[in-house]
Amino acid sequence: MKVGFTGTRNRMTDIQVKIFVYLFTGFREFDKKITEFYLGDCIGADQQSGHLVFKHAKNPIKCYLLPSDIPDMQGHLENHYPCIRLPEKPPLQRNEDLVYFIEVLFAAPKESENQTRSGTWQTIRCAKRQCKVIYIIYPDGKVEFIDEKGMSYDVTPTKCPVCKSFNFHQVQDNQFPIMECDDCKERWLSD
Ligand SMILES: [Zn+2]
Repeated sequence: MKVGFTGTRNRMTDIQVKIFVYLFTGFREFDKKITEFYLGDCIGADQQSGHLVFKHAKNPIKCYLLPSDIPDMQGHLENHYPCIRLPEKPPLQRNEDLVYFIEVLFAAPKESENQTRSGTWQTIRCAKRQCKVIYIIYPDGKVEFIDEKGMSYDVTPTKCPVCKSFNFHQVQDNQFPIMECDDCKERWLSD
């Protein structure tokens, strides 16, 4: 599965990081693994997402960088990890290209509202036009899922029922997944 990321030039909030890793590592849409990861190689959240993917991925992933043509905004993830760096393009064109390459978009915007001048929201609108599956991870930890038909669902992950931590993982891979909290070791049945 080909997955893309778009996010704020600032860094993600702690909860956005936790949920991104949770979605990324527990991702089982269409029963496929993430095989290719596409990011804009911007400073801020893009860099974070790249580091997190290389740190937590459970299978080899090809990482593609789509840099903008604004040198100050480039994070140069290829200096840290093996990445395939595509030619620089103006940001709006780059965002269109990124969406074209992928099947699923993870978006971590800085603002909770749809902002006209935000590159993250421009990429989200583009993904809707191209009928891609989208997960929007909001700064407060809410997660919105938008399917290929543009239908929107609240899929905010449950927190640990005991200590409210988002640090949890799936311990049983079957029809009724069991979750285990990394912090207090509580186990519960996922819905
Ligand atoms: Zn807990």
